[in-house]
Amino acid sequence: MKINQILQKDQITLSFEVFPPKTAAKYESVKQAACGVAALQPDYMSVTYGAGGSTQGSTIDIAQEIQQRYQVTTIAHLTCVGATKEKIRQTLLEIKAAGIDNILALRGDRPQGFEGNPFLDYHFASELVEEIKNFGGFCVGGACYPEGHVDSANKKDDITHLKKKVDAGCEFLTTQMFFDNNLFYKFLYQVRAAGITVPVIPGIMPITRANQVENAVKLSGCNVPERFKNIVDRFGTNAKAMQQAGIAYATDQIIDLIANGINHIHVYSMNKPEVAQKIQDNLSEILRCK
Ligand code: FAD
Repeated sequence: MKINQILQKDQITLSFEVFPPKTAAKYESVKQAACGVAALQPDYMSVTYGAGGSTQGSTIDIAQEIQQRYQVTTIAHLTCVGATKEKIRQTLLEIKAAGIDNILALRGDRPQGFEGNPFLDYHFASELVEEIKNFGGFCVGGACYPEGHVDSANKKDDITHLKKKVDAGCEFLTTQMFFDNNLFYKFLYQVRAAGITVPVIPGIMPITRANQVENAVKLSGCNVPERFKNIVDRFGTNAKAMQQAGIAYATDQIIDLIANGINHIHVYSMNKPEVAQKIQDNLSEILRCK
């Protein structure tokens, strides 16, 4: 099923994200974790793509397994950094053959230690979006950044570039994680004012370990509000308490979003079925609300 059909339904949706293994040795344990998340029957699941990594093919394998065993629609992430047009076309054939109808089209980041220019055939995700739309048959999503993308000089330019990505054929956008919903509401206002009308799905990251905060900030440059810093200061050294508080914080963010009319929520569940399950349980009645 195409994600844009799921998003058109008059209901609240909850989707989860999993990531493929970084090494072949971890394949089975990661697949099991992904299947544990799929067993919760979310509205759809996304499977990330290791840009430049040696296990890129496992994105397709895991997405296919989830669809076939659990009948949960999947979206395969695909990055174009360092890729040739030929490689992308080959990958699109593989995604199609696996029965996956949805792709999150991404530029990706320069791989660590990469010498030279990795942006040869593709410079930006919008070019990948265009390529996939020309190939045909896929619903295409893209990434967006409520706090601005780290490479962008300012948010205004970032939104101008985002509009180009949507004009190239992007049918919905999923946001980078954020910990302050006001940043999302402001961003939504700005993208609508720029003429971007596709669904914008907030991506919520339940932080369940103190060191995740540091990684999240390093990778995404997102702000951590004082309220969340206090949680990490107080519970960061107690694993169980930190997990409970992190899930409660993410749940609180999601409830506020839904209460403010945002019907589609994506959770960065990070291969943790227990975290996905607790969030789903916390929202059990809320997800049924019309
Ligand atoms: P783009 O949309 O190309 O934007 C990148 C930068 O280029 C921005 O600063 C933008 O303003 C600028 N830009 C865009 N178009 C133009 C233009 N025409 N002229 C000048 N500047 C322009 N990474 C992975 O490796 N694997 C994943 O699976 C993955 N999944 C992700 C999922 C989500 C929801 C998000 C938010 C990010 C994900 N990432 C993933 C990270 C992503 O690859 C990086 O953030 C990357 O740096 C940017 O990718 P993009 O697709 O947003 O790029």
